Amino acid sequence: MLRENRTRKGEERMETVRAVVLRGMGGPLNMEILRMEGPRDDEVLVSVVASGICHTDIDLCDDWDEETGPVVLGHEGAGIVEKTGGKVEGVVPGDRVVLSYQSCGLCPPCRAGRPFACLRFFEANFGFRRLDGSNALERSGVRGHFFGQSSFADRSLATERNLVKVPGDLHLEMLAPLGCGMQTGAGTVMNALAVRPGQGIAVFGTGAVGLAAVMAARIAGARPVVGVDVLPRRIALALELGATHGIDGRREDVRSRIGDIAGRGVHYVIDTTGDPGLARIAAAVLRPGGTAAFLAGTGAPASLPGGRKAVEIIQGNAVPQRFIPEMISWHRSGRFPFDRLVKFYDFGDIDRAVADAKRGDTIKPVLRWSGRGERKDS
Ligand SMILES: [Zn+2]
Ligand SMILES: [Zn+2]
Repeated sequence: MLRENRTRKGEERMETVRAVVLRGMGGPLNMEILRMEGPRDDEVLVSVVASGICHTDIDLCDDWDEETGPVVLGHEGAGIVEKTGGKVEGVVPGDRVVLSYQSCGLCPPCRAGRPFACLRFFEANFGFRRLDGSNALERSGVRGHFFGQSSFADRSLATERNLVKVPGDLHLEMLAPLGCGMQTGAGTVMNALAVRPGQGIAVFGTGAVGLAAVMAARIAGARPVVGVDVLPRRIALALELGATHGIDGRREDVRSRIGDIAGRGVHYVIDTTGDPGLARIAAAVLRPGGTAAFLAGTGAPASLPGGRKAVEIIQGNAVPQRFIPEMISWHRSGRFPFDRLVKFYDFGDIDRAVADAKRGDTIKPVLRWSGRGERKDS
């Protein structure tokens, strides 16, 4: 598996990587063999076992433009450390890791322990290059470093800032979605909103992020927990995973139903859909002083009436190295059964996985490399 070549420059080491490359709007997503620079001093080469597909990957695929050029997407990677750069201290080859979002590590929020508020967050995660402007996949004319990982590949270059060591007794491929989708939904409830027992919450959109929020709301003791969606199957799942009430936004009047359920309104609304119509409904179903959190990356409305707050939350205000182990401990105690959302696909079937996710047939597709089996006892 491990192939290295001396290049003309002599010192620079190149690795071979099998990756899913996006070269045009909407796809196709083709498997290609690329040449990737080996890990720099602060980097970690990870042998990818699995990667979740998140809606951000799908949206970028559909919004691709020529200027972006060919890219490798993927930002919910899980794998095994293969090589480390000279200055890496926290992990060694063989360690099992989950990859999360990237941050600069140097700006004031990063230094204050708030990497989710990194001043260079956009560049670090959506720049398709390192923060110094370089790109490890340059030799192949492809851009990587998406969320500091580009995990739709059999090898990924990460840094210590965006990887989290995980215990050896859990299925790595199952842990992949913790790095973005689960963290975003559950982190919003626990960190950003700090929901307390007995407070009411409505979650708009019960896909992966919304269901993570529903499960976290149950752990936090919220009541009522209202799940709103347009797919009956997902509403049913929300009810199984912790929602006290489910509303079908296509058949029922969301505003009056939440009024029936929560009287003076809910303390919190979490919108995972980015639908502007739902932003208006959020304002109407919040009690005065309540907060609506917008997670779809489309921003929050400038203001809401009556002392209600609108906030945009990035990555659930979570510090991955703290929050991912916390989600794992909930999972171990049976309170965060996110495995119920996952369906596995081979990396070669990524087009089918994306189509299933777009239709809502699969809530959290996870791609895996066949033959990179689990070492459950290691
Ligand atoms: Zn920063
Ligand atoms: Zn994501």
